[in-house]
Amino acid sequence: MADDSDPLKQYRALLEKQKGQLKNAKAYKGQKPSALMRRSRWELKQEFSLAASEMRGLWQGGRMVLSSFIGEAYPPCTRPLSSLVPIPIRDLALETQHRGRVLIVKTFAEPNRMTSIQNAVEDELGDVARLAIYNLLPTVAPDDILPLGAVVAVKEPYYKCTADGGLIVRVDHPSDFVALKPGSNIIPPRLAPDTIELGLSALSIKEDGNTAFKRNEWQLAIEHYSDALEADGLEGNGDLWRTLHRNRAGAHLRLGHYELAIADALAAIIPAEDDASEAAKDVNIKALYRAGRAAYEMGDFLQAKQHFKQALEVDTNHREARAELIRTEKRLAEQENGGYNFPAMAKSATKQHPRLDHASFLKNTEIASAGQRGRGLFATKDLKPGDVVFVEKAFQATHPKDSGDMSVLINVNTDRISMGTPSLRLYSIVDKLLWNPTLAKKYLDLFDGGKFGSSKGDAEVVDGKVAVDTFQVQSIADFNGFSCPRVKSSDKEEGGEKHNDYKTSTGIWLQASYANHSCLQNAAGAFIGDMMVVRALRDLRAGDEILMRYVGPIEPCAGRQKRMRNLYDFECDCALCQAEAKVPGPAVEKRARLRREIDAFLSANPLDDDTVWTVPAAKKAKGRRLLEGVRETYHPEELFRRLPRFDCVTIGLWVGVSALAGRPNDELGRFLSVLRDMGYFVAIQGGNATIDRGSAIIAPSAIHAAMYAGRVLAAMGNQGPASALGALARDLYIAMFGVDEGFEAEFGSAA
Ligand SMILES: [Zn+2]
Repeated sequence: MADDSDPLKQYRALLEKQKGQLKNAKAYKGQKPSALMRRSRWELKQEFSLAASEMRGLWQGGRMVLSSFIGEAYPPCTRPLSSLVPIPIRDLALETQHRGRVLIVKTFAEPNRMTSIQNAVEDELGDVARLAIYNLLPTVAPDDILPLGAVVAVKEPYYKCTADGGLIVRVDHPSDFVALKPGSNIIPPRLAPDTIELGLSALSIKEDGNTAFKRNEWQLAIEHYSDALEADGLEGNGDLWRTLHRNRAGAHLRLGHYELAIADALAAIIPAEDDASEAAKDVNIKALYRAGRAAYEMGDFLQAKQHFKQALEVDTNHREARAELIRTEKRLAEQENGGYNFPAMAKSATKQHPRLDHASFLKNTEIASAGQRGRGLFATKDLKPGDVVFVEKAFQATHPKDSGDMSVLINVNTDRISMGTPSLRLYSIVDKLLWNPTLAKKYLDLFDGGKFGSSKGDAEVVDGKVAVDTFQVQSIADFNGFSCPRVKSSDKEEGGEKHNDYKTSTGIWLQASYANHSCLQNAAGAFIGDMMVVRALRDLRAGDEILMRYVGPIEPCAGRQKRMRNLYDFECDCALCQAEAKVPGPAVEKRARLRREIDAFLSANPLDDDTVWTVPAAKKAKGRRLLEGVRETYHPEELFRRLPRFDCVTIGLWVGVSALAGRPNDELGRFLSVLRDMGYFVAIQGGNATIDRGSAIIAPSAIHAAMYAGRVLAAMGNQGPASALGALARDLYIAMFGVDEGFEAEFGSAA
């Protein structure tokens, strides 16, 4: 795993290799593997024992790069295990998903984990294969899934050739994998465990569950409690039955299985008419508390409030329930009124705690049809520039601190390589959806590229889990994911829209995902921890579509369009793109040439506190010539009469700042024309200023230009317009960064 050369280049090569391998493998589609391709039981046993010791060495050696491939898409099984017909290994055909069939096998080696959890398995005829389960959370241990001697079912198995010439039963959808309990009647006799502990009492199995619970082994605890619930002689609805449900609710809650936790907790409630004792009250409060906590974690604050109130009806003095009710009511108030304290939120967001305890405020927006663009987000009331449009808690945000080891996701379907958080994001979302059908429905409703047909949005529960299509989950994440800074937008060094930056956090914000793109966005989002704060950039009327920006305006039109086609599968037809498309070819070429010249000029002649007063006249003249030259490329002129001319901005700002020692009126004109090039039309009449931002673009240059213009106006003694420009600068800063903290430090004080 050498990383001395460009890692992206290595992954490109890996991607190409994988694609070549996929193509080769297709030649085998539908065929049985040759004897040469098959491995013996002994060979597999050796292979896995070697892999296990190598793995130990690798992990002890420190960081490792985990690369994961997303291969060709196929759907998950949506039929229950009981309806599937068994198939032996020898009947499996290569590169084929065996619809309607189930493979029942037993592991016979030590499991390992590289990019998937793998083990060697045998079936009832004694044939062997490798089995690999993908897309599991990194916290899942190999022994949790495929321990030695486990009997497991693979629904609708997919048999594949691997890059190293081996054969593998590959499970991409975790819901296609079912661990079978000893004694299950679908286990063939030859695979049945030698000894099954029969006749264990529910009480003794419950004790095993409690032991696991105390050790934080939540999954194991759930299995024990479930076994106990199925034990012979257990009285339904009795005390023990309720205790098992209540305890299992606690374990489900820890694992994020919120809906199961709520169902278990509520099943455990003892009706007062059955038992009104103090002991019964205590356990009821415990159950209601768990149901409330699970509802809270799901963001269902109304339900959470109901459960905490019920707990307090049983015991008005219950401290924890009281505290939770107060916390829940705060969330409900945020949801209803959006009354956030943004500076306090910004203070509370840290690298260690980027996930904030707040609710979303979405009332000013609604999702509706946006004609040809599919669905879109619309304002439900009139909003002014700077007003909060919505505030949203991430459905799922993954931060670099979560991923630990370097990881890379190589997607053969989209030709895309993502380093860092995207692979963990995929596993986290899959895990969340597997266990929470209501949340799964919300996520699966997002745009998926349209390649997943009728299964979209079903979130079917089969054999206790949602049948999650991991390819669809990834496609939705590709189309709807946001890159966000580690902690907040004001942390400049870590923010930005950089792609393939493994330091960037990534996440899914459901409501924001419905907002369509425009280069002339009318709303902009900032991040505070895992909260997205979206503000209006112009006057919005109720019913107006809210448009955000997927790709920045810094890129020239053709580059923007190409990136949007690649990433989002559409082309922008905003007023700016329409105008840019009409610019004659020679002017486009001239602008591209001037852009390169301007970049070189600006990096050779930076302006700082020392150099700004001593810029030679010849340089100033060169700067002005570049500005005039690039402005002429916005041609024909009337096309851009009301539109930004973005390539004039950086050089315009340089020209303005380098001329600061000149006559105030000239300088004001220069800064106002930078604002005009950003789409802010400022008219100053006497002591008043009006600012038309109907097609304005938001970027730090606009803040700089407004601050300079404000200061020049103040120096001229024109205080009214000076304040108006200072206020514009602050407005824009807050829209970009969520709070005004840091504004003075970066842009100085307003006039
Ligand atoms: Zn556009």
